[in-house]
Amino acid sequence: MTSRRDFIKKSALASALVLGGNKLLRAEKESGERVQGDGKKPIVLSTWSHGIPANDAAWKILSANGKALDAVEQGVMVPESDPKNRSVGLGGLPDRDGHVTLDACIMDEKGNCGSVAFLEGILHPISVARKVMEKTPHVMLVGDGALQFALENGFTKNDYIITPEAKEAWEKWKKENNYNPKGDKANHDTIGLIAIDAAGDLSGACTTSGLAWKYHGRVGDSPIIGDGLFVDNEVGAACTTGKGEAVMKICGSIVVVEMMRNGKTPQQACEEMIKRMAKKQSDWKDFQVGVLALNSNGEHGAFALQKGFQYALAVDGENKLYDSDYLNK
Ligand code: ASP
Repeated sequence: MTSRRDFIKKSALASALVLGGNKLLRAEKESGERVQGDGKKPIVLSTWSHGIPANDAAWKILSANGKALDAVEQGVMVPESDPKNRSVGLGGLPDRDGHVTLDACIMDEKGNCGSVAFLEGILHPISVARKVMEKTPHVMLVGDGALQFALENGFTKNDYIITPEAKEAWEKWKKENNYNPKGDKANHDTIGLIAIDAAGDLSGACTTSGLAWKYHGRVGDSPIIGDGLFVDNEVGAACTTGKGEAVMKICGSIVVVEMMRNGKTPQQACEEMIKRMAKKQSDWKDFQVGVLALNSNGEHGAFALQKGFQYALAVDGENKLYDSDYLNK
């Protein structure tokens, strides 16, 4: 197995980071202006090794005093664009009927949120989710309605809706698994990315092709506000990855944020949510769930049910991959 050290990658942007002497006042936000002062240092936290390039893209925005909302969107667009990524975007593995169906959500510092689910053929579901947030009175659009909205708003339907590699994997799966989709430890890897900007504002984004071989029409935790992602600017943010059904049964992200509201550190909150999940779900040793949290003071936490969950943390100009602690020891 590759060691954690091997995974560590220093951000190319490290030397460009000058935010230590370039902090922003929280108070300035009230006036709507972004001026220099004594604010927060930016942090980006995201799931799995695809979090490294995603964090780099987010960091570019934050290091130029950009907003966390723009950073989280641009960050997760990187794995969405990668046709080799088998768990995010159009390169993802399909459902049991051979459809790659995409779920995404985004949430900003004001509690605004947007979401799409069961969307096909669109390269950047996260940007459609942002449009839902900004241009409609709704939070969530699904399926054909989400596609119609995307097309009406300038997105184009991609020529390929399943990559040849994903199709090959699907053909193989059909023979071996006989239409019995299961959320095991190997067939998922959503990107959840949460960030705090120099003004001290939090935002988050989450995007996935969902569990491989799922039932057609299945939607997991990732696009559900409070399950795959939750942000409360006064408290913190959390995001999840892994078997969505397990997260949905306890509303994973909002539980973590509420625990932080009640005084837990991000690490304590992540551990308590995962332990509660294990207590309530007797088959917990058979699947993986990972969670990340960031509080408004810039402290972070990570925890998982099983060994193997990794997360990427960009702070102080360094972007590194870490192995998360886990419950099943
Ligand atoms: N949470 C996602 C889902 O259940 C899967 C993943 O994290 O890869 O759809």
